[in-house]
Amino acid sequence: MFIFKIILVAVILLVVGDFISTFFYHVPEHVFGKFHTIVHHGKNRSFIHYAILTRNPLVLVDGFLGALPYFLFVPWLWKISAIGTVLGVILAELHVIWRHIPPIKWTTPKAIKFLCDCCFITTPEKHWLHHQNSNLAYGDIFTFYDRPAQAWMRLLIQIKKARSKEKQSLT
Ligand SMILES: [Zn+2]
Ligand SMILES: [Zn+2]
Repeated sequence: MFIFKIILVAVILLVVGDFISTFFYHVPEHVFGKFHTIVHHGKNRSFIHYAILTRNPLVLVDGFLGALPYFLFVPWLWKISAIGTVLGVILAELHVIWRHIPPIKWTTPKAIKFLCDCCFITTPEKHWLHHQNSNLAYGDIFTFYDRPAQAWMRLLIQIKKARSKEKQSLT
């Protein structure tokens, strides 16, 4: 029961965090914003480079806004299981680092890829697709967010177009 609670809380933190991050930050940022694209989809795609070596404050802002959703429910999850909450945050952080290892440096072993596919977990190869084409491979941690995120993106693009048409007709 104790272990079950820890795992459940960690999984909730990751699933809810990725959901909020994807639908309320990541996709809207690609449609309406700029700095996620500049920071996260820039020419130099090495995670270490953009996270640590660049002294660009936007990097911190993007990192902060992207990570915030994972912390929103911490006070509530903490009451259920503090260990599970800490585990969830650590796993989220490790996954950020793992998914940003460039394909030249890393190939996911077949067994791990199979496990990830079974659990709908985004591999570095999958996430790389998103860095190459920002219309693809949503869901930073979970691949099941990809299809609804793409639908959400199409809807937001329509809204954006409608709004700019409105503005044009006003001027
Ligand atoms: Zn990324
Ligand atoms: Zn992106």
